[in-house]
Amino acid sequence: MLAVCKKLAPSLFIVLCAFVCTQAQEKITIVLKNDARPLVVDEVSEATDGFWYKRGNVTTFLDRERVARVEYPKPPEAEKPAEPLQGNGKWRLADAQKIQDFFVARFKKPLPTTAFGQSDLHTRWGLDHRNGIDVGIHPDSTEGRALIEFLRSESIPFLAFRGPVPGVATGPHIHIGNRSPRVSGR
Ligand SMILES: [Zn+2]
Repeated sequence: MLAVCKKLAPSLFIVLCAFVCTQAQEKITIVLKNDARPLVVDEVSEATDGFWYKRGNVTTFLDRERVARVEYPKPPEAEKPAEPLQGNGKWRLADAQKIQDFFVARFKKPLPTTAFGQSDLHTRWGLDHRNGIDVGIHPDSTEGRALIEFLRSESIPFLAFRGPVPGVATGPHIHIGNRSPRVSGR
């Protein structure tokens, strides 16, 4: 019996995966810890202690500790948000207010910045981040796409990170401002 199960398990897994993958084409998948069934949802918005996700008309909160990762569908070719917009040199940290105003007006909550100007981490990495803001949202999320659209319309330079880059980014985020120059001597 056990041998049969072992033989069946891989094919079952493939069937399940194919099913989940087809389902996930347009939707967002929340991968849970402890091998729990992944959740396929319409929208995800990140909070400090977890995630709000929407399925149909129902919005549910999910504790951060239960979530392994959130997988977003590949954006359509027409709107490649990862394409970095290089600065025109006019951007200053002082212009950040209009981005914050936009975000509050659109999403009724403050812009979730993880770094505003220089931070200890950026100093440790030898990056000049004095004119940069890091926003802790995934570029492909609803909020991320809206923010990128706004930055483009305002010609504000940004870099979109979909995952960690050693020595540059700890995880998915949107960096607003020009690429941080390396501080010399590092
Ligand atoms: Zn940054």
